[in-house]
Order: sequence, then structure tokens, then C-alpha cells
Amino acid sequence: MTNTRFRLNITGVIQGVGFRPFIYTLAHKHKLTGFVCNSSLGVEIEIQSNSIYDLDQFCHSIESELPPLACINSLNKLQIEALTVENSFLIVESLTDNETPETFPIIPPADSSICNDCLSELFDPKDRRYRFPFINCTNCGPRFTIINNLPYDRSNTSMQKFALCLSCASEYSNPQDRRFHAQPNACFDCGPQLTFEPGNYKGEEALAKAVQSLKKGEIVALKGLGGFQLFCDATNSSAVAKLRLRKHRPTKPLALMIQDIDEAKKYCDIDTSSHELLSQSKRPIVIVKKKDKFALADNLSINSNQIGIMLPYTGLHYILIKDFSGPLVATSGNLSEEPIACTNNEAMQDLKHIADSFLMHNRDIVLRYDDSVAHCVNQKPVLLRKARGYAPDAINLHFVCKKNILALGGHLKSTFCIAKGKQAITSQHLGDLDDVKAIDNYHDVLKQYQNMFKFKPDLLARDLHPDYASSLLAEQMAKEFGLDCILIQHHHAHIASCMTEHQLTGPVIGVALDGLGMGSDETLWGGEFLLCNFNSFKRLAHLAPVAMPGGTLAIKEPWRMMLGFIDSFEEESKNRFEPFFERLKQNEKEAKIALVQKQIDSSLNTPLTSSMGRVFDAVAALLGVCTRQLHEGQAPAELESLARPHSDLQIQSYDFDLIETDGITQINTQAIFTAIASDIKSGLSNGLISFKFHQTVKKIISKACHKIRLATGCSVVCLSGGVFQNRLLLELVEKELTISNFKVYFPKAVPCNDAGLSLGQAAVAAHSR
Ligand code: ZN
Ligand code: ZN
Ligand code: FE
Repeated sequence: MTNTRFRLNITGVIQGVGFRPFIYTLAHKHKLTGFVCNSSLGVEIEIQSNSIYDLDQFCHSIESELPPLACINSLNKLQIEALTVENSFLIVESLTDNETPETFPIIPPADSSICNDCLSELFDPKDRRYRFPFINCTNCGPRFTIINNLPYDRSNTSMQKFALCLSCASEYSNPQDRRFHAQPNACFDCGPQLTFEPGNYKGEEALAKAVQSLKKGEIVALKGLGGFQLFCDATNSSAVAKLRLRKHRPTKPLALMIQDIDEAKKYCDIDTSSHELLSQSKRPIVIVKKKDKFALADNLSINSNQIGIMLPYTGLHYILIKDFSGPLVATSGNLSEEPIACTNNEAMQDLKHIADSFLMHNRDIVLRYDDSVAHCVNQKPVLLRKARGYAPDAINLHFVCKKNILALGGHLKSTFCIAKGKQAITSQHLGDLDDVKAIDNYHDVLKQYQNMFKFKPDLLARDLHPDYASSLLAEQMAKEFGLDCILIQHHHAHIASCMTEHQLTGPVIGVALDGLGMGSDETLWGGEFLLCNFNSFKRLAHLAPVAMPGGTLAIKEPWRMMLGFIDSFEEESKNRFEPFFERLKQNEKEAKIALVQKQIDSSLNTPLTSSMGRVFDAVAALLGVCTRQLHEGQAPAELESLARPHSDLQIQSYDFDLIETDGITQINTQAIFTAIASDIKSGLSNGLISFKFHQTVKKIISKACHKIRLATGCSVVCLSGGVFQNRLLLELVEKELTISNFKVYFPKAVPCNDAGLSLGQAAVAAHSR
């Protein structure tokens, strides 16, 4: 009988996920000989048999019986010459080769929460890993946060310094074992060890000390998967207040870690889709509604009916929260917007004025990862911050990048994107690029990605705004390496990002609503209706531009923005805002108000903006809801919280005017503001006014889309930009447009805020000539 032999080359998430043992078992089942190994081009398999049927069955099973964390991007099969003698199927050492592949062959797996098998071992007193904080197996545990380089082998991870003990080594080398080739495999005898400071306590004593510290109302810095986290008792409002004060985080909501879903349901309303999202092995923070009677500290989320919660995701978290027995605040271990601390020394230094104690260990974190954040919009999961568990992942493109593209993203919530062939990879959330530490971290992560993915860019893309830290870096790289750098309009990138995720080619009606982005006319845009494809866009409608006195100061102090709006209104309507001025004079010095007025009159440091985010700010100021924004997006979030309880009411929206000039529609908001002023005067509640305002924004979007459909015939709508982080608005708009027979898309896997810009920039750059 003649033998047939195939060589298979597979790419995707196939290293570190139990793929080779899976192949090994499968080959034995079908009585094939040959081998499987990792290489820098993915996984290589050679299989041989005298039965074509068995070979076919094997190939079929690879895709149909895949291990839980694995994902195949491509599978190439080639018939090669059969060997004359071969008796077994083996897992052989990884091939190290220096080939530079055409696409990204190996996507390292993202970190995964502890699996159920490991969880039951963790709390089984008879198991040798009973209460071992670093328990993991092939189906779970740390991955990308401990990888130095590819291929994903123990020697390329921060587990390299821990030599396997005999028991662990036998699990590691036994293809039938759940821990076969589990690179972070370890136990009490050979693995990482806990330390508690102050006092240099180890192991169980360290855990007991941490629990004691939490019980006392102290703040504990804990070394998590992607960086340090700050924990404190979520029922203790003075502990929470202390954390806020020390972390310089006066108002921004704090996330909770809760033992399990049943416990979470005591404090929050959790629908089925949020339940599913919370329990995923990616373990994001999920934003859910607080119960009306919220039994935890009242300063966890202020002026908001929502809160972010997550379930534990490592053995360490599970032990800690079980021993503490109650919900814990779990927030990133950093000062304000700086990158999270990731080494023990960094934490002891950077967090010494925040944390009272430290629960650390000696397994190094190679790559810094924040917790991911998501919520459910009309029952669909939507990512707001893509980090631990979600990045990196390869986004399959429906077009081909002829060049290796590096897109550097925006300035706030920054990310970058590398794209080649038919794939793009976006980085994890890298924060706001406002200080040196954040910019350094961005550089470091970019270098790590380039190194790990063997990526050398030959085309750069950046935002139009020349002063973004990412734009400056792009220009510097362009000069240094002699590369072209394409400038991409902010809102075009927002829409292109959504188009890429949903594999649309355009034209689409792009509704890009956000805080600010540099427009092609050098004014600040943010309330844009664009007819888009990847090559180009046409601005068909936008909010009427108004003065933004003091530039970014107007964001921090929304009353300044309200003055900008009032200035744009007709004289006779201005007296309607007397009550607003009266209240303003009570809160702000008259000289300061006069100065802002003067700024507007003389246009000094007063850019024009068509931003929808700023309309939300001004409405909040008019309602006296938020006079100072202490964190980004605070005013719109408070408006959303006010409106939400009324969202089931059938309620009218406010009127507004559409003014057409040279084929471009301007949306004038004067009538909205004067009507709100009347509603305030007549005593309507802020909640109802806010809901009416949300209805109005929905109507603006719907009217503009109808108008554009009439003019262009286009009925595909992409909604993107930071304003759509507002779940209430997005739900209203999706329903309204769908009823009107628009095909509606919004970003789900990539955030709609500026974190999504880099993917859009890469897509536009790929289409540039
Ligand atoms: Zn496991
Ligand atoms: Zn061991
Ligand atoms: Fe934006």
C-alpha cells in the first residue's frame, strides 16, 4: 500500500492554547505518523498514512474540534513526498527560523481567566495546588502579559526563571495531561511566591495580612495579570474616599470585583447579555445599572446610576475575595492617567502615597495591560476599552494592504495599529499621551509589537492634528526612516474604523460625533455627517460652529461653552438665559465671566467648534448639572444617568433648525437651548429635560441621515466617535434608524472612542494611492 504525506501550515491563535497536544491526540486517533511543531510561520504539521480517508478526517477535525482558546486564520495543505520509514507521531521542538512572513502567522493568545477545572482544584483541600495563587493550565492563565518573544515557549516568557519540579515537569511533558506544554505551569514547590509588604510576609501569611489590611479599611496594591491594581473594601465609604483622594480621582467611577454573578445581582441589575459578558474568560469590566437601593459605598460612582463590575480572573483574585468575603474596589494601580505600575519596585515607588500595603509576587509582567471595559447595547456586547483578554487580536481585513502600515492613532485613549496583507492588529489601550511616562510607555509597547511580530513599517499614518504626541512621533519616524506619512482626518478615521470592523466598502453615511478632532478646514469638528468610503469623504452636514472660549478650558468648565453657545444666538433670545447668568454669578467671579465674554467678543484663544460633545457639556451647564468636569466625559455621563430612568416614556423632542448652504446642511441648536431654558423656568425636572435632549440628538441624527439618503441614495449608516459611548443615545439611535430602513453599524470589537482611530487610519492609508 502506498503512503501519502501532507504538510500543513496553520496560522492564527495556535500557540499556548493546547494546539499541539490537540493535534497529537488527533493524529493518534486517526493512526497517522509524522510530527507537529511551532515555527515563526505558525504551526507546521506533517502527516502520513496509507489511508486517504484518515488523512481527510484528520484535516476536517482540526477545524471542527478546536481547543477553546484557539483560533485558525489560515490553513494551507500541500502534498509532499512520503517517507519510507516512519513509525510514530511526535511533538518536536519549535523550529527557529528567520523568515519574515507575509502576514502575522502567530497571534499570541491573550490572557484568559482561570478555567473551571483549575478553579475546582484551587479550592479542593486534597489537591496539590489547593490555594495556589498561580494555578493555570493549557486552557487558562496568563499569556501575552508574560511573553517576551515568539514562539510562545517557556524560555520566551517570564516563567523562564522558574525551573519545573518533577511533578510539574511530568505534567508538562505528558500529552494526555491538561498541563501538557502549559508554559506558565507551576506549583508551590517550583512556582512564583507571594510577598506582603510591609513586613516581608510570604505565602499564606501574606494573604492573611492582605485580608487584614482590607478589613481595616486600608488600600492594598495587588500585582495582577497586566499590572498592579488597587483594592479596598467596597462597603467602606471612607476607604473609598481615601482612595479617591490619594489617587487624584475625585469623581470618575471606580470598578468593583465581585465573587460571582449571584453576589453581583445583590447590587446591580444584570441582564442576560451582561451576564454572559461578565462570565467570559476575557473577564472585562462590564458597566451595568446599580440597583435603586445600592447597598455598597455611595461614593463608588457619583451622580451616576451605573457602575463597572468584574469577576475575579486569577487564582490570587479568587483566594483574596473569598477570604475577604465581600465586594472589593479594583481599580488600576496608577496615579490619575499615568500607565499602571507593573514591576514591584515601580509599584513600591509610584504607589507609596496611595497604597497602605502591597501584595506582590516574583513573576514578572512583561507587557502592561489595563483591565478591559465593555457594556451591552441593545443586548450586544460593545468594547469601550480594549486591553487585557482582548488585545492583541488579528482583525481580518476585507482588503489587502500592499504595504506594511503603522498607524499611530490619536492623543487621548491612544492605541496604534500595525497592518499588513489581509490583517491588522491594534495595540491595547495605552492611555492619554499627556505626560512623559505615558508617551514612553507608548514607545515601549510599539517597540515590543514590532519586535514580536517582526514588523517593519513602510508607510505611516497619523491624525491631521499636528500637536498630538502620536503625530509628533509619526513625523519623527518618517524623517528617521525616510517613510511617507499620510495625514488622516479624525472623523474619517472614526468611520473607516467602523467600516473595517464590519467589512463595508462604502459609500456609507458616517455619523461621527465626539469631543473634538481637527477638521480639514482647521476648525475643530465633532458633530459630523460624512459620506465616506476609504479613499475620501464629503462633509454633507454638521453642527453649526460656535465659539469655544479658552479652548480646552471650555471642556473643563462647561459654563464657558454655554457662553459660547449663547453668543451665537439671536439677540432677542438671549434674555431667556437670565436665570443661567444669575446662577453663574453665584458660582464664578464676575471678573472671570466678563473676561470670558471679552474672549468671545475678540475671538482671542477662542477656536470654533461643531462638536456634539460640547453641546452635551453646555446643556449640562445650563441645567446646573456639572459645572466643572473633573474627568473626561463627566457631563455627558451625568446627563445620561439623569435621563435613563425616563427612557420608557413617550416624550417629545426639542425643535432645531437645519440651514442649507452650498449643499451643506448646518444644524443650528439655538431653538434647543431656548426651549430647555423655558422648560427649566416652568419647573420640568432635569431628568425629563435630559431625556428630551437625548431624544433631540436622536432626531438630529435621524433627520440628517434621511436628508443624505434622499440626496445620495445611500442607506448604510456607521455611528462612531466618543459620544456613542452613551448607551442610552446609541440604543435610541439604532432603533430609530433601523425602523426607517437604514442598515446601521457601530463599533463593537474596537472602541468607538479615539482608541478606534488607529485602525481607521490604517484602513484609509491602505487605500491611498
Ligand atoms: Zn485551567
Ligand atoms: Zn511544581
Ligand atoms: Fe474622536
